[in-house]
Amino acid sequence: MSNQISEKTSMHILPPLPYADNALDPVISANTISFHYGKHHKAYVDNLNKLVVGTELVGLSLEKIITATAGKAEKAAIFNNAAQAWNHAFYWNSLIPNGGGEPPAALKKKIEASFVTVDACKKELATAATTQFGSGWAWLVLDGDKLRVVKTSNADSPLTKGAKPLLTIDVWEHAYYLDYQNRRADYVNSVIDKLINWSFAVDNLR
Ligand code: FE
Repeated sequence: MSNQISEKTSMHILPPLPYADNALDPVISANTISFHYGKHHKAYVDNLNKLVVGTELVGLSLEKIITATAGKAEKAAIFNNAAQAWNHAFYWNSLIPNGGGEPPAALKKKIEASFVTVDACKKELATAATTQFGSGWAWLVLDGDKLRVVKTSNADSPLTKGAKPLLTIDVWEHAYYLDYQNRRADYVNSVIDKLINWSFAVDNLR
């Protein structure tokens, strides 16, 4: 994923959605996308731009800001907004209209080496997403030469734990509440069955 920084102003940019705001309907409605992308994601980018003014972090990529501020209490606001900006850009790319189904052969082989079957991998991802207590994220990551499923709280990211993210599912309530209310499992299972973008995971393996 490319860095989203304006060359002219060194400001972080809200990256364009990789599809129309109604392209994930009915799994995720245009209404959800309009708030989630247009308000929540945008606010993380805008807040980050305000917070880095006058600091040594101006002009750095999101990845560099995330690793530079992780675990530092006095930098928590910057970390949270930078990580959420990164996580959301990664999430939009983790979904695709008419996604789901079988992963491409090369990824399928890797999944089977780590989880035995694709279904077991999907099940583990669904379990992580539904059991994450409160706000957070479920991830498929490359950890060494193994694929693993992990979950993170709030803005936390596998990037700070040495693992390479391949796919993510946002399980903050703002990701599903307008469409599914409290039924997080229905959102998660529909996303995995119908929207998950295996090709993006393949791109991230490289
Ligand atoms: Fe979100």
